Amino acid sequence: MFDKILIANRGEIALRVIRACREMGIQSVAVHSTADADAMHVRMADESICIGPPSGAQSYLSIPAIISACEISGAQAIHPGYGFLSENANFVQIVEDHGITFIGPSAEHIRQMGDKITAKDTAKALGIPCVPGSDGGVPDVETAKKVAADMGYPVIIKATAGGGGRGMKVAETAADLVQAFQTARSESKAAFGNDEVYMEKYLQKPRHIEIQVFGDGQGGGVHLGERDCSLQRRHQKVFEEAPGPSITAEERARIGEICANAIGKMGYSGAGTVEFLYEDGEFYFIEMNTRLQVEHPVTEAIFGQDLVREQILVASGQKLSFSQEDLQINGHAIEVRINAEKLPNFSPCPGKITAFHAPGGLGVRMDSALYDGYSIPPYYDSLIGKLIVHGRDRDEALARLSRSLGELIVDGVDTTVPLFHALLQEKDVQTGDYNIHWLEKWLDANL
Ligand code: ADP
Repeated sequence: MFDKILIANRGEIALRVIRACREMGIQSVAVHSTADADAMHVRMADESICIGPPSGAQSYLSIPAIISACEISGAQAIHPGYGFLSENANFVQIVEDHGITFIGPSAEHIRQMGDKITAKDTAKALGIPCVPGSDGGVPDVETAKKVAADMGYPVIIKATAGGGGRGMKVAETAADLVQAFQTARSESKAAFGNDEVYMEKYLQKPRHIEIQVFGDGQGGGVHLGERDCSLQRRHQKVFEEAPGPSITAEERARIGEICANAIGKMGYSGAGTVEFLYEDGEFYFIEMNTRLQVEHPVTEAIFGQDLVREQILVASGQKLSFSQEDLQINGHAIEVRINAEKLPNFSPCPGKITAFHAPGGLGVRMDSALYDGYSIPPYYDSLIGKLIVHGRDRDEALARLSRSLGELIVDGVDTTVPLFHALLQEKDVQTGDYNIHWLEKWLDANL
């Protein structure tokens, strides 16, 4: 087992990893930009090293700075968290070349899943059902028209290198296609430096269902059921729950087994998430994330497992501490993402926290790096906390969410908390009857 782990991240996820390290008796090293000198992850880690100026590109994304910090501190492994370098195969290669362990899958597996066209081909070859779509990249408008006519409208044009919901455009009819195609391409070029796009049938009322998987790196794989992350704004998740309100035990076992077998066959190591759209009882693969997800705590809650601990165990060459048979679902969990954003436009709202109180009590978990007097810097994403509740069933989890949101105090900046108070009043949210378009429609009508 490692003696010391460096965490190449900030905010609540850095705290999450530090906590797992401490429980395992492992020393933790935080890295930070000059803007984060007073951040909670710096205070909580055993050691900290400044790696550069505020801009992410010069600090949390700087591979030389992070490798140097690792060498100076003597850390044997790097946990990347999510975002930043967590899915950068080049980084993983460099880490391994320096004799440091990357806590995550191999560079090759990240590469395979990082490019979405290769990911879909890999998934198909492993027996995972996919959304009908173009065979690989679509080079020009003429080809796009042909593909769309064959598939039928509406269609969605997506960036091969995509992520975070960017570079995605829907064409309802042939008349929209040219513009949608060109916009998707230019957005993709601007965001990812690569203008290749591909096309899929646009599903009208799917849910976003994702399967949590774990590979032992030796050909074995297990699944930890699904999360329903259908409540999204601009293709970004805001409210996640497990188990999915629409998924039966049989469906879970079937799709879970397909995913677990697939990652076993790949020889995949560590945590991963296989994302699907789910409509009329069918699952359609959209992508695989080769890292820990923001919403992993809902899975931890219902299975009573520490996923970061398992990532560290597997990376150090040990066995997973559970087998498929050990994994039984207990109750229901919901997470809401609390962002420092001003409604109704969700504009980022950095600033000084003048009062902070985290909710508590049975079944309540608050993962946040906030504290009284902390100044949220304007350079990074606006997630300031995740509130996770666990109940014996969905109704209890909803009541607990409402109760704990009421206890939460974040003064000094605007947050997305009022959105969740309002959503909890909605019958569809109360009954779990929503799809990936529900929230956008609700926001248009209510905010
Ligand atoms: P990203 O990597 O940018 O997050 P994804 O491929 O994971 O992109 O898709 C993000 C979201 O976009 C999905 O959760 C869903 O809401 C929507 N989406 C993607 N593909 C389709 C599709 N074929 N039909 C309908 N909605 C889609």
